[in-house]
Parts: sequence; structure tokens; C-alpha cells
Amino acid sequence: MAAITYTPQQGKSGPKFTCPRCQRVYPYPVDYDRPIRCECGWWYTNVGHGAIVEEFRPRIGGSDPDAPQYGEGT
Ligand SMILES: [Zn+2]
Repeated sequence: MAAITYTPQQGKSGPKFTCPRCQRVYPYPVDYDRPIRCECGWWYTNVGHGAIVEEFRPRIGGSDPDAPQYGEGT
């Protein structure tokens, strides 16, 4: 899979990473450290020099539109 280089946005508490799918904002991932696991199911891993590898890892049931939805409507 291809790595994509994102430019971190500078914030008060350090660089920020904005999920390009859902626009949630996270601290920029540290090189070779834990990936960001976005709520929308995409993982972003910093593989060094700011290059981010994107990987979609849906939660169980999350990728299947026919799967029952939990935690909604109450
Ligand atoms: Zn997201």
C-alpha cells in the first residue's frame, strides 16, 4: 500500500492530523509509533518522515450495511 505524506497542522499542543475522511482531528502520529485509529475505521500509521500509511480496518460489523447497528437510537 502506498504511503501518503500529509502536512501536519500546527496546533497549540503540537502538530495535528485531520482525518481526510471524517475531518476528526488527532495529535499527529509519532514516527513508527502506534497508528491513529480513527472512529470512521481508517488507521493512519506514520512510517517515518511524515509519510502516513492508510489502512481501512472496519470494526466488526461496521463494514456490512446489513449488519445490526449497536448503540444507536437510545
Ligand atoms: Zn476518520
